[in-house]
Amino acid sequence: MMKQMLLLTALLMAATAAHADTYRAVQGDLLTIERVLPSGSITLHCFGKSWPLIQSKTGVVKAWIGVDLKTRPGSHSLKWSVKNAKGKTEQFIENLTVTEGEFRISHITVDKKMAVFGKEELKRIRADQKMLKDSYVANVTAQPDLQISRMPVKGIMSTPFGAQRYVNGEPRSPHSGIDIAAPEGTPVTTPLAGRVLVVSEMYLNGNTVAIGHGRGVVSVFSHLKSASVKEGDWIEASAEIGEVGKTGRATGPHLHWGIRFMQARINPESMFIKKQRH
Ligand SMILES: [Zn+2]
Repeated sequence: MMKQMLLLTALLMAATAAHADTYRAVQGDLLTIERVLPSGSITLHCFGKSWPLIQSKTGVVKAWIGVDLKTRPGSHSLKWSVKNAKGKTEQFIENLTVTEGEFRISHITVDKKMAVFGKEELKRIRADQKMLKDSYVANVTAQPDLQISRMPVKGIMSTPFGAQRYVNGEPRSPHSGIDIAAPEGTPVTTPLAGRVLVVSEMYLNGNTVAIGHGRGVVSVFSHLKSASVKEGDWIEASAEIGEVGKTGRATGPHLHWGIRFMQARINPESMFIKKQRH
């Protein structure tokens, strides 16, 4: 009996080890990985995409993965391919466990014209969305890091990332950024350097600026009173890009700050989080 118990324990332990999590993330996380790999040409695949990475001469690879807001909770595989100088490719499969975000519910009440759209408004909303979507795939010079150390504006978080939105009682897409309430006219700065990809007055987002930081990372700043940059400008980190406003669909002055990483909707707050080591 004792022997069987021991055997069972050993089997259970083996099973646990085989399914040990290598990496963990919550929906909306920016996952930063540092890992030692053999030298060669390295690629990292996850969620059907190839993610950016930096290789150092010491063999340490630093990589980033964007875990979209709606990623299926559970196990996902993360595949490294290393092609050595002789052209031989080695693969390493690791596990990434994604857990569901604890997102809250957010109700807002707005004018009917900001909740129920006619043909013209729909046309404009779709054009606005396309303009932003196109910016998410723009090619911009890569910045050395994706770590953020300061918020774009001083204020109070009024709607967190991922909140399930109800507009005039009707369910809408989850909140893909964070809202920071601040007095109208408060300066908004970009936390990372980058190229201005979009400056536009949008129907729902109001005055909007999109900045590409390279490596597929794009920040979107919405509801601005005004923008002080123009498309094509290169903006250094911490430089002013506009002022807090309440343009578009807004119940009060606030900054909506969203981040896309290789098109995945990322929680800007996760850009402040320390890296996971392997
Ligand atoms: Zn928002």
